Amino acid sequence: MMSANRPALSVVAPCYNEQDALPEFLHRVGSVLEMVGGTSEIVLVDDGSRDRTWKVMTEAAARDPRVVAVRLMRNHGHQLALTAGLTVCRGERILIIDADLQDPPELLPEMIALMEKGADVVYGQRRQRDGESLFKRVTAAAFYRLIGRMTDVEIPFDAGDFRLITRRVLDLLTAMPERHRFVRGMVAWIGGEQVPLLYDRKARVAGESKYPVSKMVRFAADAVTAFSVVPLMASMTIGWVMALIGFAFFVYSIVGWAIGHTLPGWTSLMAAVGLLGGMQFLMLGIIGAYLGRLYDQSKGRPLFMIRDIVGGPK
Ligand code: UDP
Ligand code: MG
Repeated sequence: MMSANRPALSVVAPCYNEQDALPEFLHRVGSVLEMVGGTSEIVLVDDGSRDRTWKVMTEAAARDPRVVAVRLMRNHGHQLALTAGLTVCRGERILIIDADLQDPPELLPEMIALMEKGADVVYGQRRQRDGESLFKRVTAAAFYRLIGRMTDVEIPFDAGDFRLITRRVLDLLTAMPERHRFVRGMVAWIGGEQVPLLYDRKARVAGESKYPVSKMVRFAADAVTAFSVVPLMASMTIGWVMALIGFAFFVYSIVGWAIGHTLPGWTSLMAAVGLLGGMQFLMLGIIGAYLGRLYDQSKGRPLFMIRDIVGGPK
């Protein structure tokens, strides 16, 4: 693609059932873009919504030449919908933002200022999270700290996907073929100068979170398996510990037998069998988690499928 055709800025937002949030989103993003000036586009990705999201998007695209509406074939999930938008967008700088306005688009000028000073990535870091349950905040905090210990990649704490990135970083990101995408980790992995910008995360303007606990768990598992092989290696450590304990028991039972001191032993047997059985299944499950993702990846299917694109340059 000719770089001469690039708008200075792309705003990319994945949308799943966001009919109620989109009008305000477009309004607020529109005002910010006017404030910032320069050429821009707003790439909205309809991730197989079941409400009127697509209609709202295409109407916006008809009204506003900056709006590009992308519809996927079906629901692909947040990270892949975002990836579709990142692949379609053409800007020199790209703002990744959720459509529910939990991340304020008004931070854009500050992000641009930091980028002017040489940052490759300016990421929003949450100072506070309004309107999110204690459960969500505690699990999120635990998750970021856990993954921080398991990988060498410096994945920032308390940061979502809200960030401004350069075209160079974007091209590196979209060139990564991995299917189970943890975009914020992948951006961190790329490196360059990554600068935080503190902000208060608000409650959604409309609708409800599309991340129920089941999706959060899968998301966390994708993140861990994509960035660390520590769980896969855990069986080695546990195996060594078990082997040492087993050896101690071996010596103990032989000595006991030699001095004629044998025990009934039901409790110790049950404890050992239960513990070992549980641990073995757990380890098999961990291997399965990696193997399943490897299998998915090996099929080489497209990451997302686009059904329609409305608006943007002809
Ligand atoms: N989203 C999506 N596909 C999905 C789920 C979510 O495109 O399958 C979008 C959603 O519309 C929103 C963003 O991803 O713009 C973040 O989702 P959500 O706000 O539900 O997550 P939370 O902020 O609660 O973690
Ligand atoms: Mg949200």
